[in-house]
Amino acid sequence: MKNVRRSADALVGMLPYDPKYKKSNTLLSANESPLNVPDAVLDAVLERVRTLDFNRYPDPLANALRVAIAEWHGLKAANVLVGNGGDELLYDIFVAWGGPERSLLTFPPTFSVYETNAVLTSTQVVNIPRREDDWSIDVDRACERLATGDIDIVVITNPNNPTGTMTPLEDIRRILDASDALVLVDEAYGEFADESAAKLLDEYENLLILHTFSKAYRCAGIRLGYFLGNPSVINEFKKVRQPYSVDAISQIVGEEVVRNRALFTEGIEVTRVERDRLIAALSELPKVTVYPSEANFVMLKLPFAMRTWSDLDEKHSVLVRNVSGENHLAGCLRVTVGTPEENDRFLAALTEELDDLANQR
Ligand code: PMP
Repeated sequence: MKNVRRSADALVGMLPYDPKYKKSNTLLSANESPLNVPDAVLDAVLERVRTLDFNRYPDPLANALRVAIAEWHGLKAANVLVGNGGDELLYDIFVAWGGPERSLLTFPPTFSVYETNAVLTSTQVVNIPRREDDWSIDVDRACERLATGDIDIVVITNPNNPTGTMTPLEDIRRILDASDALVLVDEAYGEFADESAAKLLDEYENLLILHTFSKAYRCAGIRLGYFLGNPSVINEFKKVRQPYSVDAISQIVGEEVVRNRALFTEGIEVTRVERDRLIAALSELPKVTVYPSEANFVMLKLPFAMRTWSDLDEKHSVLVRNVSGENHLAGCLRVTVGTPEENDRFLAALTEELDDLANQR
């Protein structure tokens, strides 16, 4: 067979994204919703898909959905851009604001996709690690670094993945004031928290917010996310986005979810209550440290994390995310908040494994 020449330099040593999915009875590893969409949403979608012109391209900007999202957030359509999941929009940030000679400031441990996109686009990565006791951002250090003027993109994940912790709005404000870099506040889990940075959009052209339909709105299986930003910033993204990245079916699903959003409130509330119950139960377990969380997942630190993770999977068919191999996260596991029954199963399995470990010593 004839050889192909080698791919771009940026790909050397890179590994494809791996969600570390495994078949299991209790799937608590990917921060999905444990519930499918409400029947009313499903019925409305099926009704509309029946008469869809599959032979026609979709509206490139998904304008009906943009308008619906804008009204929901008290903004204008010009403040909204829809993408093929938050992941597509995260990539677009690096096409529009990154590249060679440009820099990303990020606060690890955090979501790995930012750094991957930086590497793919030859954007330099500047890391200021979070404080390891409470995972807060060292805002003084961040502002000092921003003062040098060479940072183009800042990402603050709020609540942060995988720690679950929040950065207060005063800190976000200080970072926005310290620089004219594009500051992304990634609120993929924002619906489970008490605060959103969206109220600062009027004051800061350099603020951009990411939301997704994958978590609180139970739609990880279709790919839909959106930016809230100022029109000047949104316009730049219109230049780099793939023209038809949001397909017609996803647009319909998005419109029906937004129209029926009141039907999701109860699920969000149950998740918040269950999250707090999980935190309370985990904090009772000996040798386990559990961190506060405002997301739909909880991070814990424990001895023998790797072994506990594999025993939960192999002996109990409970799959959680093993993040213990990542920088700053030795001994840590991340568990998604499931249904009350799933959470009970996880707690019982973990308690049994910790008892076994204690008895072996
Ligand atoms: N941001 C964060 C912090 C996430 O955890 C995720 C999903 N894992 C995303 C963005 C992207 O989500 P999606 O592509 O499903 O919209």
